[in-house]
Amino acid sequence: MRSISILGATGSIGASTLDLIRRNRPEWRVVALTANCQAAELAKLAREFDAELAAVGDESCLSDLREALSGSGIEAVGGAAGLVEAATREADLTVAAIVGCAGLAPTMAAIERGGAVALANKEALVSAGDVMTAAVARSGAVLLPVDSEHNAIFQCLDGNDFADVRCITLTASGGPLRLWTAEQLRAATPAQAIAHPNWSMGAKISVDSATMMNKGLELIEAFHLFPVGLDRLRILVHPQSVIHSMVEYRDGSTLAQLGPSDMRVAIASCLAWPQRMDTPCAPLDLAAIGELSFFGPDEERFPATRLAREAAAAGGAAPAVLNAANEVAVAAFLRGQIAFTDISSLVAQTLDRELPPAPRCLDDVLAVDAEARARASQTLEPA
Ligand code: NDP
Repeated sequence: MRSISILGATGSIGASTLDLIRRNRPEWRVVALTANCQAAELAKLAREFDAELAAVGDESCLSDLREALSGSGIEAVGGAAGLVEAATREADLTVAAIVGCAGLAPTMAAIERGGAVALANKEALVSAGDVMTAAVARSGAVLLPVDSEHNAIFQCLDGNDFADVRCITLTASGGPLRLWTAEQLRAATPAQAIAHPNWSMGAKISVDSATMMNKGLELIEAFHLFPVGLDRLRILVHPQSVIHSMVEYRDGSTLAQLGPSDMRVAIASCLAWPQRMDTPCAPLDLAAIGELSFFGPDEERFPATRLAREAAAAGGAAPAVLNAANEVAVAAFLRGQIAFTDISSLVAQTLDRELPPAPRCLDDVLAVDAEARARASQTLEPA
């Protein structure tokens, strides 16, 4: 039996992870589960999986959580310290699936503890880049990438030397608005941006997928996870989302990982790593799919990948500023405050201002994040 904690248990990745645990119940002991404010749902999951500890990030929801868990013997904690406590509890594997930079401190706590961390929370790695990779090296933690593209690359790299890699190609579905004109994009609504053709995901990553910022964040994520250099990281639009990413070697071989568009495949590869486990996902039927297509990214209509590449090249505080501005912009778009195309504009404007010095520790990253959020919020025009 192995032990597991899930940070962001009430979200889309959390639900997919718990679905796999539910199907293999005797093999897992659940240590800690967290949410932000969905106290009732978190309590239900904590009871079902007999967790030791449940944590809500929003401290004002702690009394609801306590009430919902009364008589269960499950500990309830809240606030930023509660999330860190959940991440610090001893567990063989911690799934980091909180959305946004809000997941950074608990993810860092899990990494500092050592052990294995299945990382879905890409914003944390984008913002903390060097600080997080230094913590991984220091603690000896093993980072297992959950993001389907990075999980694919991780699988394709297996046992090979980075020096033998000619390039790594991140595939992108292009999102639901891939074929829209610039004028149509300006008028895109949150419902249209969230309606992803292939993947079912949380609202924030769905909007990121529509703007292509998701691929930009993934480029920076790959830059830290697979140190082959920015010039050897490529993006290729592949609308069917069958090939999840590829690694080309210097002998001319290209290894690709293919699979259904179901995050349970990537999550299962982390849960079972270095072995394999069953999933309920239907296998690929390539004859039914028939054809796969590929296109270069259009950075005129979708400038986010260019912004992310420039931020990665600039290094220092730039990726954290990019991420913070994007989180503010996506939230404003989802509230109906700004247009779809304003998301990338707000990120670009925030990056254009003088950047703070390079963060050297977690507190520095959190300070850069807070300052960039404040700047981006000031720039927002009322609807
Ligand atoms: P969801 O929005 O579905 O879930 C987010 C989770 O984080 C919920 O448990 C939520 O709690 C919690 N949360 C939100 N805000 C806070 C906060 N301020 N403090 C503490 N907890 C918080 O997101 P997803 O599952 O879609 O995505 C999670 C992460 O995984 C993201 O970084 C995303 O980019 C990445 N990812 C997701 C994929 C997917 O298919 N969904 C694919 C690849 C990567 P509550 O329910 O209480 O709000």
